[in-house]
Amino acid sequence: MTSIVSRHLFGPGPTNAYPEATEGLARPLLGHLDPAFLAIMDETCEWLRAVWGTAQNRTLPLSATGSAGMEAAFVNTVHPGDVVVVAVNGLFGQRMCEVASRCGAEVVAVQHRWGSPVDPERVVAAHPAPAIVAAVHAETSTGARSDIAALGAAVRDAGDALLLVDAVTSIAGIELLADEWGIDIGYAGTQKCLGVAPGLAPFTISERAFGRRVERPRSWYLDLGLLGGYVGDAGPGPRARTYHHTAPVAMVSSLHAALGRILEEGLDNVWARHAAAGQALQDGLEAMGLELFADAGHRLPELTTVRVPDGVDSADVRRTLLERYDIEIGAGVGEFAASVWRIGLMGPNASPDAVALVLHALGDVLGRPTSG
Ligand SMILES: *Cc1c(COP(=O)(O)O)cnc(C)c1O
Repeated sequence: MTSIVSRHLFGPGPTNAYPEATEGLARPLLGHLDPAFLAIMDETCEWLRAVWGTAQNRTLPLSATGSAGMEAAFVNTVHPGDVVVVAVNGLFGQRMCEVASRCGAEVVAVQHRWGSPVDPERVVAAHPAPAIVAAVHAETSTGARSDIAALGAAVRDAGDALLLVDAVTSIAGIELLADEWGIDIGYAGTQKCLGVAPGLAPFTISERAFGRRVERPRSWYLDLGLLGGYVGDAGPGPRARTYHHTAPVAMVSSLHAALGRILEEGLDNVWARHAAAGQALQDGLEAMGLELFADAGHRLPELTTVRVPDGVDSADVRRTLLERYDIEIGAGVGEFAASVWRIGLMGPNASPDAVALVLHALGDVLGRPTSG
């Protein structure tokens, strides 16, 4: 048997889980149609509405990781030939283009410099009447935060396109107000700021978007019309639960426990905790003489990108952090693979202790000791 290894997961995800989430995983398994489990599922959906900032009935955890949320978003809403405008400012925007195009969309990609936020004016100017406008709220590949409130307002002013948003790394980390911002279709993931293992994709869709959905999407597993029969999100009326697929009951219990813990702390407090940790980390890295990568004023607190100093081997440093401190940080993505590090402080890791530990460890490995 291999030995149990425990790490500080300070990369782009998965993060370490909240203790409550780990306890949730260990609860006795229940049948997925057991009334006791359905009560947990219902409360999970209710609490997901709270972290999404939405009153949408159709808010549920999809049984797969964040990328399945992306697939579900496009496969359920793109009709062949639909124009889909995608704001691309990093890897996940690029991936949206690929997924949308496989669903038959005519994709209009609006390219942005990596590290910069999405520019709403350029995005809405890209096409006169798209069916969908899509963007990533928190680009985990670059550490840039985009203003979805402004994008939503611009999209509404320009026409009646649906707004589709990736909130994988923003949910339960930074402010997210789906209804106020006009998000029609949103997907997220559990292993970033929600502080749960990877495996579920919190999803939400407005009535307006659901009304325009593809009736018989190419994906049977991710067909929102069929899924609604199980999670009982179809609104008023008898809540008959029909079997579609076996819900991952342990993962739902874990998410339920984490959401309970997050809402008990209070969303405002959770956002403030992430903001404080990110700011302290970014200040500390700059004090060490390092240069941050994402544009000032648009930096995510939960995912910090920092340039690898000249003459330093990025992979060597990451390996030493792992071996000496049990700390995992992320490499950069694409052309920045070797020139940027990504340091995540998400969920339980958004704490002063984690900030102090990662600054100390990085200072030690780089030979730039911190004063603190
Ligand atoms: C992690 C991530 C995803 C993909 O989620 P998986 O759980 O890896 O499938 C999508 N979008 C963003 C912004 C992410 O950070």
